[in-house]
Amino acid sequence: SESLTVAELAKKLGREPSEVIKKLFMLGAMATINQELDKDTIELICAEYEVEVEEEIIVDKTDLEVYFEPEDENLNQERPPVVTIMGHVDHGKTTLLDSIRHTKVTAGEAGGITQHIGAYQVVDDNDKKITFLDTPGHAAFTTMRARGAKVTDLAIIVVAADDGVMPQTVEAINHAKAAEVPIIIAVNKMDKPSANPDRVMQELTEHGLVAEAWGGDTIFVPISALTGDGIDSLLEMVLLVSEVGELKANPARRAIGTVIEAELDKGRGSVATLLVQDGTLKVGDPIVVGNTFGRVRAMVSDTGRRAKEAGPSTPVEITGLNDVPQAGDRFVVFEDEKTARQVGETRATSALQVQRSEKTRVTLDNLFDQL
Ligand code: GDP
Ligand code: MG
Repeated sequence: SESLTVAELAKKLGREPSEVIKKLFMLGAMATINQELDKDTIELICAEYEVEVEEEIIVDKTDLEVYFEPEDENLNQERPPVVTIMGHVDHGKTTLLDSIRHTKVTAGEAGGITQHIGAYQVVDDNDKKITFLDTPGHAAFTTMRARGAKVTDLAIIVVAADDGVMPQTVEAINHAKAAEVPIIIAVNKMDKPSANPDRVMQELTEHGLVAEAWGGDTIFVPISALTGDGIDSLLEMVLLVSEVGELKANPARRAIGTVIEAELDKGRGSVATLLVQDGTLKVGDPIVVGNTFGRVRAMVSDTGRRAKEAGPSTPVEITGLNDVPQAGDRFVVFEDEKTARQVGETRATSALQVQRSEKTRVTLDNLFDQL
């Protein structure tokens, strides 16, 4: 689509969004950070910064989505929810993630956890799956969202019952609200004598999160990430809330999804953890990932096992890409390698051009600074 939000344009220009908003204001237009700008406005702003609008700046946004044609919705099936855990530092996010992983994954896996890939899936007693993103919380959440990726279906916000609502709690709430994902509050550290869950409930009402017990509609689950108490009810609530959301995908089609993390491995080359969001990803699939492409050479599951395919909401680590993509990049599987190569190469070229034009601009800026 031929539009960018104020934030996206600012990023491309290497400016602060507030600065772009100011420019727009001076041009007589009121805009908010997430506002979509049309082509003409983008050109106007670029002119202000003496940046030539290359078609790529606009086309670059073209989410790989355009190569993912709509299909018969009747083929859609229920898919597991993808959950992000957020909260203030030291309130127990890592402990909770570990606790869930160990109680639920290790039990069914003879080899236990051999690999850590930034996301994992658990299966409850009724065979229902939940995918957890094991990202360093807020940063990953915002990076992904800034890149236009929506990967999370539900946010668990951890609040320590002995500490209450803290700045990063509020930040987490705001992220979840901005992303329009449902929130479940895990009131953690209930094993501590100083735990005061009522205080947490009280403080959260000030942020529009009113507990069901108090006539609101926010689910609060008292837990102890340390002892494991309450984790089963937490997972139950996650499944309950996601059922309302009717999360669906079609496992029978070619995959599309988002990069969770990626790096260059000395032995294996480009290694990327992908979250399949629709369709099924298979070994051998020709794939475009962000501005790179390749063929899925090998896949490793969250438990470190070789996998041949990965269905909707499944995190998987792949090798076989030409280059290292970025967290938040989208990926799409193509029917044939030739098209994947074409699309990948075109995207890589335009990304380079954008980079170059940014470089030139920066140089110009430096020149101005020196004058
Ligand atoms: P994070 O910064 O949110 O990832 O927090 P951590 O998971 O690293 O936990 C911070 C500290 O709180 C660690 O010392 C944990 O052992 C402790 N902790 C986490 N959850 C609980 C809990 O349920 N009860 C108690 N008593 N301590 C906890
Ligand atoms: Mg942590």
